[in-house]
Amino acid sequence: MTFVSLGVAEPILRALQAENYTHPTPIQAKAIPALLAGRDLLGIAQTGTGKTAAFALPLLQRLSTGHVPPGPKQARALILAPTRELAVQIEQSLRTYGRFLNLRLAVVLGGVSQNNQVRAMARGVDILVATPGRLLDLVQQKHVRLDAVSTFIVDEADRMLDMGFIRDVRKLVAMLPRERQSMLFSATMPDDIVKLTHDMLRSPERIVVTPQSKTADRITQKLYFVPMPQKRQLLSELLKDVSMNRVIVFTRTKHGANRVAEHLSRTGVVAEAIHGNKSQNARQRALEMFRAGKARVLVATDIAARGIDIDDITHVVNFELPNEPESYVHRIGRTARAGGEGIAISFCDASERGFLRDIERLIRTKIEVVAHELPE
Ligand code: AMP
Repeated sequence: MTFVSLGVAEPILRALQAENYTHPTPIQAKAIPALLAGRDLLGIAQTGTGKTAAFALPLLQRLSTGHVPPGPKQARALILAPTRELAVQIEQSLRTYGRFLNLRLAVVLGGVSQNNQVRAMARGVDILVATPGRLLDLVQQKHVRLDAVSTFIVDEADRMLDMGFIRDVRKLVAMLPRERQSMLFSATMPDDIVKLTHDMLRSPERIVVTPQSKTADRITQKLYFVPMPQKRQLLSELLKDVSMNRVIVFTRTKHGANRVAEHLSRTGVVAEAIHGNKSQNARQRALEMFRAGKARVLVATDIAARGIDIDDITHVVNFELPNEPESYVHRIGRTARAGGEGIAISFCDASERGFLRDIERLIRTKIEVVAHELPE
């Protein structure tokens, strides 16, 4: 199977070659022909499966063949993402795959001034990537028009629901032209998302790839029973291992993320924290430090980590276990991306035993416990 045989054409093929994408991933193999043929799509898949390219490649190809320029403030395609990080990530992927095409892109997201976004939309764009709240705001201010959207994509729909954006999504759907191609991607299918798919998709092609509980297969998972007050010390001990080269540490709270990052910095480990209390610029800066290898550790909360697409993460450390078991799967999926392998280490204190039970039930695996002793 090749991208050519799926119908992907020049100059997108050239961009894929430059990225060393030799073979399509399973979701790409199934989605691309259906989308090129104009079908709607329901993709039950999580990050790490190649789902971004699965919708981005056909989108770019359809928009660039017989290019109809957008009118002022219009977007020809709209992609909704739950977080700012994911929106930026999607835009970067579109720029990568579409680098030899002449399409205009814009990103609209909250937490930063709207001025640049309004300016970017003034002449109209081919593709708009947006978080729902800010987009709704700009539409209401008449800075953005949705009447020319011919392709509509909702990414990580279950996260939209978790974060309370589903009403905004519904409002936006109601503003779109009826005649359009639509796609929805979600890792899980809670009732509200099933309902949304009924309302926004027309006889969609349904593609399911690697159910959540299976993703853990390529990841070595380990568990340390450790009381909360000793977690920082244990983390420092583990980080003496130089093979822990690019590490994401997850905490449950923003405050906790700051404290762990500060502790690591004090002990000489270059660490950056990212969470929702930081400005968009500070988050982007922290991510870049981490991506460039200038920071060895990124300490993150679940929401801030959504959409982080960084290859070669050697270890994920769950400094605190998440209270939602699905988050565990999302977290450890930050390592072992694009077919690689990875190690996930979890710290569990007595108060987190219940979370551990839920996680082990979801992944249908007992996580291997590591016996350890901390030096006095
Ligand atoms: P996603 O699921 O869209 O977040 O993509 C996961 C990762 O896989 C990203 O780092 C992509 O750059 C990478 N990727 C996507 N498609 C391919 C492919 N066909 N070959 C190699 N890497 C890919």
